[in-house]
Amino acid sequence: MIKTILLNSRPEGKPSVSNFEFKTEDIELTIKEGELLLETEYVSVDPYLRGRMSNAKSYVPPFELNQPVQSGVIAKVSSSKNDNFKEGDYVSGMLSWKTLQVSNGEGLNKVDPSKAPLSAYLGILGMTGLTAYCGLTEIGQPKKGETLVVSGAAGAVGSVVGQIGKILGLRVIGIAGSDEKIELLKSKFGFDAGINYNTTKDMTAAIAEAAPNGVDIYFDNVGGPISDAVLVNINRLARIIVCGAISVYNNTEAPKSLSVQPFLVKNSALMQGFIVSNYAEKFPEAMTQLTSWLAKGKLIYSETIVEGFDNIPQAFIDLFEGKNKGKMVVKI
Ligand code: NDP
Repeated sequence: MIKTILLNSRPEGKPSVSNFEFKTEDIELTIKEGELLLETEYVSVDPYLRGRMSNAKSYVPPFELNQPVQSGVIAKVSSSKNDNFKEGDYVSGMLSWKTLQVSNGEGLNKVDPSKAPLSAYLGILGMTGLTAYCGLTEIGQPKKGETLVVSGAAGAVGSVVGQIGKILGLRVIGIAGSDEKIELLKSKFGFDAGINYNTTKDMTAAIAEAAPNGVDIYFDNVGGPISDAVLVNINRLARIIVCGAISVYNNTEAPKSLSVQPFLVKNSALMQGFIVSNYAEKFPEAMTQLTSWLAKGKLIYSETIVEGFDNIPQAFIDLFEGKNKGKMVVKI
């Protein structure tokens, strides 16, 4: 029995479970020479998948309708006719939302469950950790004593960015959507201050208060009004790292935002977007550093693990409701 989740229709605004089709087939998969059979263990759900569900041109092509959705997956090799992989190996790769699938091995990386829990390869030791490390160090150019503001701070990328900021000697302020998350940022991840954007009336004033010396680096995961309020507080030569803009991913109309130019000009500030794959050459260094900080206990990570293949779409939708703390992952 093989289960598959296909994109049934393109979401208008917030995605819903009805945008997905659940298919169950009673078929036996066979593999040819060079192929391997993969059994899905963990599926990553990520905000960027929302972009691939619409038809708009982007850095990756849109998902095709009535085809399986794909994301980062950890799978077990259940049989192999490919010399690079053997039965029992674990791999990570961009794979389909299927319980079982055939691959030719292209784009798969072996992962070692004895070194870290399998789910970590979708988060701290996967795209999440690399995004946090490369974005902060390459664009942020952090210097000891500076002030870093992180939005989406209790999420997968944000919680890692803030901790790296602390390791590098920065004052770190996190913005997130609940008091519970703010408490977590301070007590578990070592942030210096936190702001709950859902209960704070004047975000500009709250950021000014939390960052009395102004903001030198802003790691932006959310865009929208939260980012406008940070922009008003930036210092001369500030660096604004534009990682994502989840607050506008479900917009059906063009967002109304502050005009950024005057703030950039008067502060000689840098604002740069990026895609983690831009920094592929830096990945080995990033992985070495992240692994070392993890081993020393300087870096910790948190996960929200949802159980069950059928719950993948809902777990994805819940990202837009802030139901996750740390990396949202589905265990099959
Ligand atoms: P998260 O784990 O941060 O999950 C999403 C979080 O976003 C939620 O928990 C929620 O937290 C917050 N959120 C949801 N809606 C809103 C809103 N309207 N306004 C403010 N916050 C909101 O996801 P990731 O860490 O995986 O991704 C974070 C960002 O980084 C995303 O924008 C993503 O697209 C981007 N990204 C970019 C990459 C790149 O290469 N450039 C690579 C990976 C991710 P809360 O409760 O605080 O609202």
